[in-house]
Amino acid sequence: QDDELRCIGCGAVIQSTDPAAPGYTPASAIQKGLDNDELYCQRCFRLRHYNEIAPVSLTDDDFLRLLSQIRDANALIVYVVDIFDFNGSLIPGLHRFVGDNPILLVGNKEDLLPRSLRRPKLRDWIRQQANQAGLRPIDTVLVSAKKNHEIDDLLETIEKYRRGRDVYVVGVTNVGKSTLINQIIKQRTGVQDLITTSRFPGTTLDEIEIPLADGQKLVDTPGIIHPHQMAHVLSAKDLKIVAPQKEIKPRTYQLDPAQTIFIGGVARFDFEKGPRSGFVTYFDNNLKLHRTKLANADRFYEKHRGDLLTPPTADETADFPPLEREEFHVRQKSDIVFEGLGWITVPAGVTVAAWVPKGVAALVRKAMI
Ligand code: GDP
Repeated sequence: QDDELRCIGCGAVIQSTDPAAPGYTPASAIQKGLDNDELYCQRCFRLRHYNEIAPVSLTDDDFLRLLSQIRDANALIVYVVDIFDFNGSLIPGLHRFVGDNPILLVGNKEDLLPRSLRRPKLRDWIRQQANQAGLRPIDTVLVSAKKNHEIDDLLETIEKYRRGRDVYVVGVTNVGKSTLINQIIKQRTGVQDLITTSRFPGTTLDEIEIPLADGQKLVDTPGIIHPHQMAHVLSAKDLKIVAPQKEIKPRTYQLDPAQTIFIGGVARFDFEKGPRSGFVTYFDNNLKLHRTKLANADRFYEKHRGDLLTPPTADETADFPPLEREEFHVRQKSDIVFEGLGWITVPAGVTVAAWVPKGVAALVRKAMI
Protein backbone atom coordinates (compact mmCIF):
# COMPACT_ATOMS: atom_id res chain seq x y z
CA GLN A 1 0.00 0.00 0.00
CA ASP A 2 2.71 2.39 -0.98
CA ASP A 3 0.27 4.67 -2.71
CA GLU A 4 -1.79 5.24 0.44
CA LEU A 5 -2.08 8.99 0.95
CA ARG A 6 -1.78 10.41 4.44
CA CYS A 7 -2.63 13.79 5.87
CA ILE A 8 0.57 15.60 6.74
CA GLY A 9 -1.24 17.18 9.70
CA CYS A 10 -2.61 14.27 11.69
CA GLY A 11 -1.32 11.24 9.83
CA ALA A 12 -4.78 9.86 9.02
CA VAL A 13 -5.23 7.98 5.74
CA ILE A 14 -6.86 10.30 3.21
CA GLN A 15 -10.34 9.23 2.11
CA SER A 16 -13.21 10.97 0.26
CA THR A 17 -16.14 8.81 1.28
CA ASP A 18 -17.04 9.53 4.91
CA PRO A 19 -16.96 13.18 5.99
CA ALA A 20 -17.29 12.20 9.67
CA ALA A 21 -14.35 9.81 9.71
CA PRO A 22 -10.67 10.71 10.08
CA GLY A 23 -8.82 11.72 6.94
CA TYR A 24 -11.83 12.96 5.02
CA THR A 25 -10.83 15.20 2.12
CA PRO A 26 -13.13 16.20 -0.74
CA ALA A 27 -11.91 14.51 -3.93
CA SER A 28 -11.43 17.92 -5.54
CA ALA A 29 -9.00 18.99 -2.81
CA ILE A 30 -6.73 15.98 -3.02
CA GLN A 31 -5.07 16.88 -6.31
CA LYS A 32 -4.70 20.47 -5.23
CA GLY A 33 -3.02 19.37 -2.03
CA LEU A 34 -0.66 17.08 -3.87
CA ASP A 35 0.23 19.80 -6.36
CA ASN A 36 1.19 22.12 -3.53
CA ASP A 37 2.92 19.41 -1.56
CA GLU A 38 0.51 20.19 1.26
CA LEU A 39 -2.00 17.41 1.50
CA TYR A 40 -4.09 18.01 4.58
CA CYS A 41 -7.36 16.31 5.44
CA GLN A 42 -10.30 18.70 5.61
CA ARG A 43 -10.15 18.82 9.36
CA CYS A 44 -6.49 19.80 9.53
CA PHE A 45 -6.93 22.16 6.60
CA ARG A 46 -9.69 24.04 8.40
CA LEU A 47 -7.68 24.10 11.53
CA ARG A 48 -4.68 25.63 9.82
CA HIS A 49 -6.57 28.15 7.80
CA TYR A 50 -9.54 29.09 9.91
CA ASN A 51 -8.49 27.87 13.34
CA GLU A 52 -11.57 25.72 13.44
CA ILE A 53 -11.69 22.33 14.98
CA ALA A 54 -13.98 19.45 14.22
CA PRO A 55 -14.32 17.27 17.28
CA VAL A 56 -12.38 14.06 17.23
CA SER A 57 -13.18 11.08 19.33
CA LEU A 58 -10.75 8.57 20.60
CA THR A 59 -13.05 5.61 21.22
CA ASP A 60 -12.95 3.97 24.64
CA ASP A 61 -11.49 0.87 23.04
CA ASP A 62 -8.67 2.83 21.48
CA PHE A 63 -8.05 4.60 24.74
CA LEU A 64 -7.83 1.40 26.73
CA ARG A 65 -5.57 -0.12 24.12
CA LEU A 66 -3.31 2.91 24.41
CA LEU A 67 -3.18 2.66 28.19
CA SER A 68 -2.32 -1.00 28.28
CA GLN A 69 0.28 -0.47 25.60
CA ILE A 70 2.00 2.05 27.85
CA ARG A 71 1.75 -0.13 30.94
CA ASP A 72 3.29 -3.07 29.12
CA ALA A 73 6.05 -1.09 27.47
CA ASN A 74 9.52 -0.63 28.91
CA ALA A 75 9.65 3.08 28.40
CA LEU A 76 10.31 6.52 29.73
CA ILE A 77 7.03 8.39 30.09
CA VAL A 78 7.24 12.07 29.25
CA TYR A 79 4.20 13.63 30.87
CA VAL A 80 3.42 17.08 29.51
CA VAL A 81 1.38 19.51 31.61
CA ASP A 82 0.30 23.08 31.00
CA ILE A 83 1.74 25.06 33.92
CA PHE A 84 -0.94 27.65 33.49
CA ASP A 85 -3.62 24.97 33.87
CA PHE A 86 -1.95 22.41 36.06
CA ASN A 87 -5.13 20.96 37.43
CA GLY A 88 -6.73 20.70 34.03
CA SER A 89 -3.61 18.82 32.89
CA LEU A 90 -3.93 15.97 35.36
CA ILE A 91 -4.61 12.53 33.92
CA PRO A 92 -6.67 10.64 36.46
CA GLY A 93 -4.94 7.40 37.44
CA LEU A 94 -1.76 8.14 35.49
CA HIS A 95 0.44 6.52 38.14
CA ARG A 96 -1.58 3.32 37.75
CA PHE A 97 -1.39 3.00 34.02
CA VAL A 98 2.29 3.80 33.59
CA GLY A 99 3.16 0.70 35.59
CA ASP A 100 6.78 0.73 36.73
CA ASN A 101 7.91 3.12 34.04
CA PRO A 102 9.54 6.34 35.23
CA ILE A 103 7.80 9.64 34.57
CA LEU A 104 9.58 12.77 33.44
CA LEU A 105 7.35 15.75 34.19
CA VAL A 106 7.42 18.54 31.61
CA GLY A 107 5.81 21.84 32.60
CA ASN A 108 4.98 23.54 29.30
CA LYS A 109 3.94 27.16 28.54
CA GLU A 110 6.55 28.53 30.91
CA ASP A 111 6.45 31.71 28.80
CA LEU A 112 2.99 32.59 30.15
CA LEU A 113 4.14 33.07 33.73
CA PRO A 114 5.59 36.35 34.91
CA ARG A 115 9.31 36.51 34.36
CA SER A 116 9.71 37.80 37.89
CA LEU A 117 8.72 34.39 39.20
CA ARG A 118 11.98 32.55 39.70
CA ARG A 119 12.12 29.34 37.70
CA PRO A 120 13.61 27.08 40.39
CA LYS A 121 10.77 28.12 42.66
CA LEU A 122 8.25 27.36 39.94
CA ARG A 123 9.82 23.96 39.40
CA ASP A 124 9.51 23.16 43.09
CA TRP A 125 5.93 24.26 42.99
CA ILE A 126 4.94 21.94 40.16
CA ARG A 127 6.85 19.08 41.72
CA GLN A 128 4.84 19.62 44.92
CA GLN A 129 1.61 19.74 42.96
CA ALA A 130 2.54 16.49 41.21
CA ASN A 131 3.31 14.84 44.54
CA GLN A 132 -0.06 15.88 45.85
CA ALA A 133 -1.62 14.24 42.82
CA GLY A 134 0.16 11.00 43.71
CA LEU A 135 2.97 11.28 41.15
CA ARG A 136 6.68 10.88 41.86
CA PRO A 137 8.41 12.10 38.71
CA ILE A 138 12.12 11.29 38.40
CA ASP A 139 12.68 14.85 37.26
CA THR A 140 10.88 18.04 36.29
CA VAL A 141 11.68 20.29 33.34
CA LEU A 142 10.11 23.65 32.48
CA VAL A 143 9.81 24.47 28.80
CA SER A 144 8.02 26.65 26.34
CA ALA A 145 7.29 24.60 23.27
CA LYS A 146 6.01 27.66 21.47
CA LYS A 147 9.02 29.85 22.22
CA ASN A 148 11.46 26.97 21.90
CA HIS A 149 12.72 27.57 25.46
CA GLU A 150 14.74 24.79 27.08
CA ILE A 151 13.89 22.22 24.41
CA ASP A 152 17.57 21.29 24.13
CA ASP A 153 17.65 20.81 27.85
CA LEU A 154 14.56 18.62 27.66
CA LEU A 155 16.09 16.43 24.94
CA GLU A 156 19.23 16.00 27.02
CA THR A 157 17.18 15.10 30.06
CA ILE A 158 15.20 12.56 28.04
CA GLU A 159 18.47 11.00 26.84
CA LYS A 160 19.77 10.90 30.38
CA TYR A 161 16.81 8.95 31.73
CA ARG A 162 15.64 6.81 28.86
CA ARG A 163 18.68 4.49 28.85
CA GLY A 164 17.97 2.77 25.58
CA ARG A 165 14.22 2.66 26.07
CA ASP A 166 11.34 3.98 23.99
CA VAL A 167 9.80 7.28 24.99
CA TYR A 168 6.04 7.81 25.27
CA VAL A 169 4.79 11.37 25.35
CA VAL A 170 1.45 11.66 27.13
CA GLY A 171 -0.76 14.58 28.06
CA VAL A 172 -4.33 15.79 28.01
CA THR A 173 -5.43 17.77 24.98
CA ASN A 174 -4.44 21.40 24.77
CA VAL A 175 -1.34 21.26 26.97
CA GLY A 176 0.83 21.87 23.89
CA LYS A 177 1.95 18.33 23.25
CA SER A 178 1.74 18.66 19.45
CA THR A 179 3.65 21.93 19.56
CA LEU A 180 6.31 20.27 21.66
CA ILE A 181 6.57 17.27 19.35
CA ASN A 182 6.84 19.65 16.41
CA GLN A 183 9.74 21.43 18.11
CA ILE A 184 11.45 18.14 18.80
CA ILE A 185 11.04 17.08 15.18
CA LYS A 186 12.29 20.44 13.98
CA GLN A 187 15.28 20.21 16.25
CA ARG A 188 16.06 16.71 15.09
CA THR A 189 15.18 16.69 11.42
CA GLY A 190 14.36 20.17 10.25
CA VAL A 191 10.86 19.17 9.20
CA GLN A 192 8.55 21.98 10.24
CA ASP A 193 4.92 21.85 11.17
CA LEU A 194 4.64 18.15 10.59
CA ILE A 195 1.79 17.92 12.98
CA THR A 196 -1.21 20.16 13.11
CA THR A 197 -1.35 22.27 16.24
CA SER A 198 -4.29 24.20 17.49
CA ARG A 199 -5.72 25.97 20.44
CA PHE A 200 -8.54 23.49 20.61
CA PRO A 201 -8.65 20.09 22.17
CA GLY A 202 -8.31 16.84 20.33
CA THR A 203 -5.99 17.72 17.49
CA THR A 204 -3.75 14.70 17.40
CA LEU A 205 -5.44 11.74 15.81
CA ASP A 206 -2.97 9.02 15.15
CA GLU A 207 0.12 7.99 16.98
CA ILE A 208 3.22 9.56 15.53
CA GLU A 209 6.55 7.87 15.99
CA ILE A 210 9.87 9.64 15.81
CA PRO A 211 12.92 7.40 15.43
CA LEU A 212 15.65 7.85 18.02
CA ALA A 213 19.35 7.32 17.40
CA ASP A 214 19.58 3.80 18.83
CA GLY A 215 16.62 2.35 16.95
CA GLN A 216 14.18 3.13 19.74
CA LYS A 217 11.33 5.53 19.13
CA LEU A 218 9.59 8.52 20.59
CA VAL A 219 5.84 7.99 20.44
CA ASP A 220 3.35 10.82 20.45
CA THR A 221 0.12 9.45 21.90
CA PRO A 222 -3.31 10.96 21.24
CA GLY A 223 -4.31 13.71 23.62
CA ILE A 224 -6.47 12.54 26.46
CA ILE A 225 -9.62 14.56 26.82
CA HIS A 226 -10.06 16.06 30.26
CA PRO A 227 -13.79 16.45 30.80
CA HIS A 228 -13.65 19.64 32.83
CA GLN A 229 -11.57 21.86 30.60
CA MET A 230 -12.85 25.34 29.93
CA ALA A 231 -12.23 24.48 26.29
CA HIS A 232 -15.36 22.35 26.29
CA VAL A 233 -17.80 25.05 27.33
CA LEU A 234 -16.45 27.89 25.20
CA SER A 235 -16.73 28.32 21.47
CA ALA A 236 -13.48 28.26 19.49
CA LYS A 237 -13.77 32.02 19.07
CA ASP A 238 -14.13 32.66 22.80
CA LEU A 239 -11.44 30.23 23.70
CA LYS A 240 -9.07 32.36 21.69
CA ILE A 241 -9.95 35.29 23.93
CA VAL A 242 -9.53 33.57 27.28
CA ALA A 243 -6.53 31.34 26.51
CA PRO A 244 -3.47 33.43 27.26
CA GLN A 245 -0.97 33.85 24.45
CA LYS A 246 1.60 36.08 26.11
CA GLU A 247 3.25 36.56 29.46
CA ILE A 248 0.51 37.29 31.93
CA LYS A 249 0.53 40.65 33.60
CA PRO A 250 -0.93 40.20 37.07
CA ARG A 251 -3.63 42.74 37.93
CA THR A 252 -4.07 43.73 41.56
CA TYR A 253 -7.37 44.85 43.12
CA GLN A 254 -7.80 46.36 46.55
CA LEU A 255 -11.17 44.94 47.55
CA ASP A 256 -13.57 45.64 50.37
CA PRO A 257 -15.68 42.75 51.57
CA ALA A 258 -18.93 42.36 49.61
CA GLN A 259 -17.29 43.25 46.32
CA THR A 260 -17.35 41.14 43.18
CA ILE A 261 -15.09 40.82 40.16
CA PHE A 262 -16.50 39.49 36.91
CA ILE A 263 -14.04 37.72 34.66
CA GLY A 264 -15.55 38.58 31.28
CA GLY A 265 -18.90 36.81 31.39
CA VAL A 266 -17.35 33.39 31.99
CA ALA A 267 -16.65 33.49 35.71
CA ARG A 268 -17.11 35.55 38.84
CA PHE A 269 -15.28 36.06 42.11
CA ASP A 270 -16.96 37.30 45.31
CA PHE A 271 -15.03 38.61 48.28
CA GLU A 272 -17.47 37.67 51.04
CA LYS A 273 -15.71 38.22 54.35
CA GLY A 274 -12.41 39.53 55.67
CA PRO A 275 -10.51 42.79 56.00
CA ARG A 276 -9.94 45.06 53.00
CA SER A 277 -7.03 43.50 51.15
CA GLY A 278 -5.15 43.09 47.89
CA PHE A 279 -6.17 40.36 45.45
CA VAL A 280 -3.94 39.54 42.50
CA THR A 281 -5.57 38.20 39.35
CA TYR A 282 -3.84 36.06 36.70
CA PHE A 283 -5.87 35.93 33.51
CA ASP A 284 -5.21 36.60 29.87
CA ASN A 285 -4.27 40.27 29.53
CA ASN A 286 -7.14 40.90 27.11
CA LEU A 287 -9.82 39.36 29.25
CA LYS A 288 -11.81 42.21 30.77
CA LEU A 289 -12.40 42.28 34.51
CA HIS A 290 -15.26 44.26 36.07
CA ARG A 291 -15.64 45.19 39.69
CA THR A 292 -19.13 45.60 41.19
CA LYS A 293 -20.89 45.43 44.53
CA LEU A 294 -21.73 41.91 45.56
CA ALA A 295 -25.31 42.95 46.36
CA ASN A 296 -25.82 44.02 42.73
CA ALA A 297 -23.81 41.28 41.09
CA ASP A 298 -26.66 38.96 40.07
CA ARG A 299 -28.58 41.77 38.45
CA PHE A 300 -25.44 43.13 36.83
CA TYR A 301 -24.74 39.76 35.28
CA GLU A 302 -28.30 39.37 33.99
CA LYS A 303 -28.19 42.81 32.45
CA HIS A 304 -24.70 42.96 31.04
CA ARG A 305 -23.60 39.53 30.04
CA GLY A 306 -22.98 39.49 26.32
CA ASP A 307 -22.16 43.23 26.24
CA LEU A 308 -20.00 44.56 29.07
CA LEU A 309 -19.30 41.07 30.26
CA THR A 310 -17.88 39.06 27.35
CA PRO A 311 -17.11 36.40 26.30
CA PRO A 312 -19.58 34.80 25.70
CA THR A 313 -20.95 37.22 23.11
CA ALA A 314 -24.64 38.20 23.01
CA ASP A 315 -25.54 35.52 20.45
CA GLU A 316 -23.94 32.83 22.59
CA THR A 317 -25.30 33.63 26.04
CA ALA A 318 -28.40 31.46 25.54
CA ASP A 319 -26.23 28.36 25.07
CA PHE A 320 -23.72 29.20 27.78
CA PRO A 321 -23.94 27.06 30.93
CA PRO A 322 -25.14 28.81 34.09
CA LEU A 323 -22.46 29.89 36.58
CA GLU A 324 -22.29 27.77 39.72
CA ARG A 325 -21.00 29.05 43.04
CA GLU A 326 -18.45 27.45 45.29
CA GLU A 327 -17.35 28.95 48.60
CA PHE A 328 -13.85 28.83 50.07
CA HIS A 329 -12.63 29.65 53.59
CA VAL A 330 -8.98 30.38 53.10
CA ARG A 331 -6.53 29.84 55.99
CA GLN A 332 -3.25 30.58 54.24
CA LYS A 333 -2.37 32.67 51.20
CA SER A 334 -3.87 30.67 48.33
CA ASP A 335 -4.87 30.65 44.70
CA ILE A 336 -8.52 30.31 43.82
CA VAL A 337 -8.29 28.53 40.48
CA PHE A 338 -10.82 28.89 37.70
CA GLU A 339 -9.74 25.84 35.78
CA GLY A 340 -8.43 26.67 32.33
CA LEU A 341 -9.04 30.36 32.80
CA GLY A 342 -6.57 31.51 35.43
CA TRP A 343 -6.56 32.23 39.14
CA ILE A 344 -6.81 34.88 41.87
CA THR A 345 -4.34 34.93 44.74
CA VAL A 346 -6.13 35.68 48.00
CA PRO A 347 -4.71 36.50 51.43
CA ALA A 348 -5.07 34.31 54.53
CA GLY A 349 -8.23 34.54 56.61
CA VAL A 350 -10.85 35.45 54.00
CA THR A 351 -14.06 33.88 52.75
CA VAL A 352 -14.55 34.05 49.01
CA ALA A 353 -16.73 32.43 46.35
CA ALA A 354 -15.83 31.39 42.82
CA TRP A 355 -18.47 31.07 40.13
CA VAL A 356 -17.66 28.94 37.12
CA PRO A 357 -19.71 27.55 34.22
CA LYS A 358 -21.38 24.26 35.11
CA GLY A 359 -18.93 21.52 34.19
CA VAL A 360 -15.78 23.54 34.90
CA ALA A 361 -13.92 23.16 38.18
CA ALA A 362 -13.09 25.82 40.75
CA LEU A 363 -10.56 24.90 43.41
CA VAL A 364 -8.17 26.23 45.99
CA ARG A 365 -4.44 25.49 46.07
CA LYS A 366 -1.27 26.72 47.71
CA ALA A 367 -0.34 30.05 46.12
CA MET A 368 2.05 29.67 43.22
CA ILE A 369 3.46 33.17 43.52
P1 GDP B 1 -2.12 19.51 22.25
O1 GDP B 1 -3.62 19.36 22.16
O2 GDP B 1 -1.61 19.15 23.61
O3 GDP B 1 -1.38 18.80 21.17
O4 GDP B 1 -1.83 21.07 22.14
P2 GDP B 1 -1.33 21.99 20.92
O5 GDP B 1 0.09 21.73 20.62
O6 GDP B 1 -2.31 21.90 19.81
O7 GDP B 1 -1.39 23.43 21.64
C1 GDP B 1 -2.57 23.93 22.23
C2 GDP B 1 -2.48 25.43 22.31
O8 GDP B 1 -1.47 25.83 23.23
C3 GDP B 1 -2.12 26.12 20.99
O9 GDP B 1 -2.85 27.33 20.91
C4 GDP B 1 -0.64 26.40 21.13
O10 GDP B 1 -0.25 27.52 20.37
C5 GDP B 1 -0.54 26.70 22.60
N1 GDP B 1 0.81 26.40 23.10
C6 GDP B 1 1.51 25.25 22.95
N2 GDP B 1 2.70 25.34 23.56
C7 GDP B 1 2.77 26.57 24.11
C8 GDP B 1 3.77 27.27 24.88
O11 GDP B 1 4.85 26.80 25.18
N3 GDP B 1 3.43 28.54 25.27
C9 GDP B 1 2.25 29.11 24.95
N4 GDP B 1 2.02 30.35 25.37
N5 GDP B 1 1.30 28.49 24.24
C10 GDP B 1 1.55 27.24 23.82
